[in-house]
Amino acid sequence: MTISKFAPERFRSPAYLNVIDDAAASEKLFINSTCLQNLKHEGKMGFPLEICGLLIGVLENDGWHVSGVRPVANLNSDRAADRFQLDPAGYQRIDRELRDSGDEIIGVYHSHPDCPAKPSPTDLNSAWEGFIYPIISVCDGVAVDVRCWTVNASGEAFMPVDIVETA
Ligand SMILES: [Zn+2]
Repeated sequence: MTISKFAPERFRSPAYLNVIDDAAASEKLFINSTCLQNLKHEGKMGFPLEICGLLIGVLENDGWHVSGVRPVANLNSDRAADRFQLDPAGYQRIDRELRDSGDEIIGVYHSHPDCPAKPSPTDLNSAWEGFIYPIISVCDGVAVDVRCWTVNASGEAFMPVDIVETA
């Protein structure tokens, strides 16, 4: 068996595999290239620590439309690749700022330093239905992959969301 430096064994464990619903992505995330680059940049700048933040935008019939990327402090200071704790004060501040703006908080992003852009059981435990969860894989300081996830209908797993990059 090939052991990749950036695919730790736990990502192949039943606990991790069970977190992912293999259904084909049926939902879409629309994000412009600037916001997508911002996500990668945030992950890269935070490396080797895990970073997190909020996605701002709207949920339309065709999917989530991102209009902004807002970094929020990660209160978890241990460096495990599958742990982050978004600062609730940061969340509340951004939520207040958005009042009457037409935009709202539509998701939470975080990075996986030296790990795949796949959700962990811990990520599922803290996930809310209706939110999107982009994960930025940063390996050796390079943002190599961004994948987006949302909780499936059963609420028991993440399913993939197609990332559609717009101009
Ligand atoms: Zn994670």
